[in-house]
Amino acid sequence: MNPSRPLPALLPAALAACLFAAPAVHAQTAAELAADQDTPGDVLTSGMGYGQQRFSPLRQIDTRTVSRLVPVWNMSTNNMLGDEAQPLVHEGVMYYTTGKSTYAINALTGRMLWKHELDYGPDIGRAALSGQVNRGPALLDGRLFRTTLDAHVIALDAKTGKELWKSKSADYTKGYSMSVAPLVANGILITGIGCGEHGGRGYLEGWDPATGRQLWRRYTVPAPGEAGSETWPATDAWTRGGGPAWLTGSYDPALDLVYWGVGNASPWNAQDRKGDNLYTASVLAMRPKTGELVWHYQFTPNDTFDYDGNNELVHADVTVDGKRRKVLMQANRNGYLYVLDRANGALLAANAFTKTTWADRIDLVTGRPVESAALKRMRETGEQITVAPSAFGGKNWNPMSFSPNTGLLYANVLDNEWDYKPAKQPYEAGAPFIAMEAKWRFDPKAGGTLKALDPVTGKAKWQHPWTIANFSGTLATAGDVVFTGTMEGEFLAFNAKNGEKLWSFQTGSGIVSQPITWEHGGRQYVTVASGIGTVYLYFAGDERLATIPPGGSLWTFALTP
Ligand code: CA
Ligand code: CA
Repeated sequence: MNPSRPLPALLPAALAACLFAAPAVHAQTAAELAADQDTPGDVLTSGMGYGQQRFSPLRQIDTRTVSRLVPVWNMSTNNMLGDEAQPLVHEGVMYYTTGKSTYAINALTGRMLWKHELDYGPDIGRAALSGQVNRGPALLDGRLFRTTLDAHVIALDAKTGKELWKSKSADYTKGYSMSVAPLVANGILITGIGCGEHGGRGYLEGWDPATGRQLWRRYTVPAPGEAGSETWPATDAWTRGGGPAWLTGSYDPALDLVYWGVGNASPWNAQDRKGDNLYTASVLAMRPKTGELVWHYQFTPNDTFDYDGNNELVHADVTVDGKRRKVLMQANRNGYLYVLDRANGALLAANAFTKTTWADRIDLVTGRPVESAALKRMRETGEQITVAPSAFGGKNWNPMSFSPNTGLLYANVLDNEWDYKPAKQPYEAGAPFIAMEAKWRFDPKAGGTLKALDPVTGKAKWQHPWTIANFSGTLATAGDVVFTGTMEGEFLAFNAKNGEKLWSFQTGSGIVSQPITWEHGGRQYVTVASGIGTVYLYFAGDERLATIPPGGSLWTFALTP
């Protein structure tokens, strides 16, 4: 109806109530979650679809029109500790999380609808070593789910923000914390724990979304006698063996398999835990209803460099050796881009996408890395090694995107190495447990590169250099635009086909988050969080970041009419 037109005086009361009531929050169904990538009116999943392509079919904003992109609104997130979350959008409402706050926002105006705040103990930063962040919420049946830094999972009423249930996962004073955006798969709410730098024992959990009851827990490090335990020494090393699961997995509803990356073995120094150390630095394919392990693939056996295998797992149909395959792709911290058959875990391709000196190559027959002579020598003698990548990785957690239009992955790749020497360190519950000495090595002029990668060869079709390491995710669209941000606060658009820089906007703080795009009423919007943080800010010692203003806010953009 036209709001400027006066209503008839005798409008029936029931009709008036219908016209003026706030829009009802409809339940999100499993079918809506499964269709998320193909329904650009909402963003219901972390990764903009179960396959985590971070690709939108929208094309109103394209390589020609993107120059007309302007801000529509900006909202402070009242957060100084890094904004790394991906927002969700449902029926005109945006949901967003920081380490301590959850927001519902009118997606068209930026006006806050409700806020939920968490209280933490003063020592909360001890467990959340890499930053007191959260990576976003999940939605199902009118409930909004998130994890907390003190290792709880909570459900809120999506309409009011009222807390519905809160379940404890672990004791944060022992070095466990949660930042993961939960995954809802086959009706089960799935979360993973962070503990890789504290000598924890990692796991995934399934929860009943309605009640918060724990349905299953799958440890990523087997106990003695369990499958995989033969890859650990006959000591108690497995009890503090690491294997965190702090980044959201993907899901294939047709195969009913959830794929989840598992992080580093603990401590980083591998001298006292000889063996492959399953299932650290691996991907697990699991049944969402039970957590049953169907297959696994280990990227980095006996990891000693914090080459977390947590990075996002991207689904696509890709032609390998002339055959069309349903694949799972990961650009791993260890510098190799892996392509696996996601039905059975068979390794199809693994090529370096940045400088890697810890291994010479990945053997496609055995699926194992061929370690470099330098790494073999360090393992034998304990002497210092200079190796690439460093623990920051060839690519960190900030997600890449995949465009089915171009067949390319768009990833912010890091260029770095480090001097590394194993050391002795006694384990102390709740304290960082690393057992090594290291010094970063950066080229101050070349911190990283935005690369358009061929998944099968790992080669870049085009690339754009950054002076400072880039920890922003990327977003690809059917308009052939790739969006990403920088640590210095620029939000940028590139031509997906040739890498031409098309547009940029200064957001006021560093971008270390994941842009999304969505549409409402025939208009395409792009949203990104700005607010500097990340492990790089806290541990790299990069003095150039001292002049980047901290403080989080959400930006939403659209084309000028
Ligand atoms: Ca959608
Ligand atoms: Ca780690």
